[in-house]
Amino acid sequence: MIITVTMNPSLDHAYFIDHFSPGIVNRFQTPRKSIGGKGINAGRAASLSGAKVIISGFLGGDLGQIVGRDLKDENLFELMMLPVSEETRRAITVMHDGNVHTEIVESGPEVSDEQAFHLMNEIKEKLNKENASVITINGSVNSNNKHLYKDLLKYIRTEISNEIPVLMDISGEQLLSLLESDEYKPTFIKPNIHELGELIGKSIPSKEVAIHEMSHSLFNDIDYIMVSCGAEGALFKAGDIYYNVEIPTIDIINPTGSGDATVGGFAYALEEKYSIEDTLKYAMACGMSNAQHAEVGVINKHDVELFMNQIQVKQYKFEPTKAIG
Ligand code: ATP
Repeated sequence: MIITVTMNPSLDHAYFIDHFSPGIVNRFQTPRKSIGGKGINAGRAASLSGAKVIISGFLGGDLGQIVGRDLKDENLFELMMLPVSEETRRAITVMHDGNVHTEIVESGPEVSDEQAFHLMNEIKEKLNKENASVITINGSVNSNNKHLYKDLLKYIRTEISNEIPVLMDISGEQLLSLLESDEYKPTFIKPNIHELGELIGKSIPSKEVAIHEMSHSLFNDIDYIMVSCGAEGALFKAGDIYYNVEIPTIDIINPTGSGDATVGGFAYALEEKYSIEDTLKYAMACGMSNAQHAEVGVINKHDVELFMNQIQVKQYKFEPTKAIG
């Protein structure tokens, strides 16, 4: 069983218009609505892979009810969504003028430390009755405690299990706080190549540069570090071993959430005890399959298995002058 945590889900609205003009009335057709949330997307990919999945987090107000109902209707996971009084957020994307995306994203209900620990306690109670093999914490949280995710990891390690793999797909100051702490380390993180640059305060123009930055002391003692690079695949570090993962070029429909599907695939492969190489291939193939669907977090297991045969995982000998390949 895989448990994913989404602190700040959303009801996403996509509007399409030929030309968008700020400062005047723009009239749209009814938007396409979908559920947003990185842990939900990752859970969907893991469930479609064949795992039993619990989706956990917070929902509030009328929008929260809609999200909860739609998640239930998907029939892919067990829900552990706790109620909050503030309304679940709305995220609006306007697609206009060719391929331009303009986004309006609400900050969502503020999650207090008490609410966050209450959720962790619910997960603990669940795990007293049933075994889980992986916990994932995905995406942002609207909290005034910039150490919240670090504190939650400590709770998991001290109160739930010191053994269970904890995959944390988070960014910004919450990730920095986690990495700067010497206390507890997540099992896995997955910054994309841009987030890696933000973390270390440098622009990272290529995989070549990125792989060298993965030896940065911020990443010490984390079992698995994946830097995803979109259509260029990913880089991976496990202890002292570095990997370059190359993927084939494919036709895509919507790559949004490919990183989330990658994390869901990684969680599934860990649960299935795949080798490192197959885990990387499975995770990458889930990201690729997601990119071939309009819906987010959706993968086709048959395609994933076909993609795995076309993905190359090469160990990279870490020498500053050596080229990737
Ligand atoms: P998101 O935040 O939208 O979930 P991300 O930035 O975290 O995405 P990416 O690096 O874009 O993650 O993608 C994760 C993986 O998905 C890639 O490593 C790759 O395997 C696959 N992928 C993403 N985009 C493409 C693409 N255009 N073509 C093929 N595969 C892709």
